[in-house]
Amino acid sequence: MSDIIQLLPDHVANQIAAGEVVQRPASVVKELLENAIDAQATSIKLIIKEAGKTLIQVIDDGVGMSVTDARLSFERHATSKIKSAEDLFELNTKGFRGEALASIAAIAHVELKTKQESDEVGTDIKIEGSEVAAQEVCVTPKGTSISVKNLFYNIPARRNFLKSNAVELRHIIDEFHRVAMAHPFIRFDMYHNGSEVFNLPETNDRQRIVNIFGGKTNEKLVPIKEETDLVAISGFVGKPEYAKRSRGEQFFFVNDRFIKSPYLNHAVNSAFEGLLKDKAHPSYFIYLKVDPKSIDINIHPTKTEIKFEDEHALYAMLRSTIKHSLGQFNVAPVLDFNRDASMDTPYEYKEKVVQPPVIEVDRAFNPFKEEKTGASTSSKNYSSFKKESTGSWEGLYAGLESEMPSSSASEKNSDFSSVEFESTEVTSSFFETEKKKIEHQSIYQLQKKYIVTTIKSGLVIVNQNRAHQRVLYEELLRSITMASSSVSQQLLFPLTLSFSKKEVALLETVKEQLENAGFVFADLTLGEVQITGIPAVATEKEVSVLLEQLLSDLENEVPDSGFSQTDLLAKSMSKSIAIRTGVELTPEQQQYMVNSLFACTEPTITPDNKPTFITFTVDEIDKKF
Ligand code: ADP
Ligand code: MG
Repeated sequence: MSDIIQLLPDHVANQIAAGEVVQRPASVVKELLENAIDAQATSIKLIIKEAGKTLIQVIDDGVGMSVTDARLSFERHATSKIKSAEDLFELNTKGFRGEALASIAAIAHVELKTKQESDEVGTDIKIEGSEVAAQEVCVTPKGTSISVKNLFYNIPARRNFLKSNAVELRHIIDEFHRVAMAHPFIRFDMYHNGSEVFNLPETNDRQRIVNIFGGKTNEKLVPIKEETDLVAISGFVGKPEYAKRSRGEQFFFVNDRFIKSPYLNHAVNSAFEGLLKDKAHPSYFIYLKVDPKSIDINIHPTKTEIKFEDEHALYAMLRSTIKHSLGQFNVAPVLDFNRDASMDTPYEYKEKVVQPPVIEVDRAFNPFKEEKTGASTSSKNYSSFKKESTGSWEGLYAGLESEMPSSSASEKNSDFSSVEFESTEVTSSFFETEKKKIEHQSIYQLQKKYIVTTIKSGLVIVNQNRAHQRVLYEELLRSITMASSSVSQQLLFPLTLSFSKKEVALLETVKEQLENAGFVFADLTLGEVQITGIPAVATEKEVSVLLEQLLSDLENEVPDSGFSQTDLLAKSMSKSIAIRTGVELTPEQQQYMVNSLFACTEPTITPDNKPTFITFTVDEIDKKF
């Protein structure tokens, strides 16, 4: 049999490698930015069109390349950064694989313009699908400009796999943030479709974070610092009261490289133990400097995971450093937001001085003495009070009056003894409780969590939170899909919430649906969002948590899950505003909840498929006895 194994042609090998290195436009952005940093640039411009699908361009003022290097840079395993395997353990650069440019050139139209300081003229090379299409001498400033057009033009499957521009842009901004935060001493500018998105002047760590995440970030940061033989830790953690439900702002940088580390993340969380409200995540911006020999960054092609030599020691050190800073900056635990508001001191009592109760004793009072003219003051007061209360309930029981001769008699004769009054009062309160019993005996709230009521065949137990989720979900779905049916409540004063640019961009992608749900945005372009109207089903207080939860859900959106964003929105919002466990409901509210639940199209489950109620038939109850 003849031999069948052959070496793959370069352009095929490059395309395969590209599969690992370039998942989406954001991966190209990361590689190009890192190359510019490795080239010692002091100012880097990122220019994007259509979320990187048509153009990604990075311009730097770094060292540039010679003619030969420019040509070589697109070869696979061509790198100026390492020469031997040992160099891997002395890495001070972002790149080292020599794969990025080769991979990118295999799947896009690339143009490179570059010039070294000492050269008169620069080099301009055009490459399409690994083939050099043109090479010329050109006039260009010192540094390098690489533009990548029509990404995945020759791999339609990959191109079709790309998400909407909003989603791809979000990934690009994420990468841009990470690189920019790791290098505050380099100036970064970013433009999308011709307009400036970020303009980050050369500065320090703290100011860079503030420039990226908005002015209000500054007051939220607590600095951390520690230096040992093993590691130098610096950076910031967010004050616990600003912790968010989304994991958004969590960054580790090791030797100026953004990394992900669930293990170190755990260390941070454990330092915050007891300081955070339920389900909140602290934000952090932590810079670790370690000996390059003690880490291995070679384990992941996109290099966001690394292996540390002494993970346990690092964990302990990080944890104690953060704990120490939180203590030093006097960070106090926050109260649980879901606490029972009925425990709070009512506003009008807040400033009052507490008065000890005074007991008045009527020393002349003789219970055995016949009262004729109401001689004792206390009984006089008592009788007049009775009269008033009698008057108020009488209207309610107008039809019953004829059956209560004692009451009408007392009305007519004010000189009648209060004993008689008392007896009518007893009768009336008896009636009242009786009536209440009749009205409400079939509905009951258990432990401020379940609504128990009877049906023909037995008993229903409704979970109040889950039932409300279902009711709101269907209501919101309706109003989002049929814009006309939405009910919005106007706010007296516009509500101003601050979000990062990225979050605003995310909100913009669902703006229409949010407006259909009842939101009215006065301004959604700045880092601050102004809201003048909110959905009728929500309260003003809930809005910030609602939007935060929504952003976090949108961010964690599982690709291709569910049928639409509308579903996600309705789900997320209904979860945020549904009545929680621990809220006391009046019998009327309980009844309303049960009725609304059973009016739903699908009353049995919550939007995420959890049961909303259970039933016990009399048969089942019988069996228990
Ligand atoms: P790596 O970064 O792993 O070395 P790349 O494929 O990203 O591999 O780049 C190949 C080589 O091209 C680099 O080693 C570097 O010498 C050169 N290079 C790439 N981008 C730039 C740039 N912006 N400025 C100067 N040289 C660059
Ligand atoms: Mg590189």
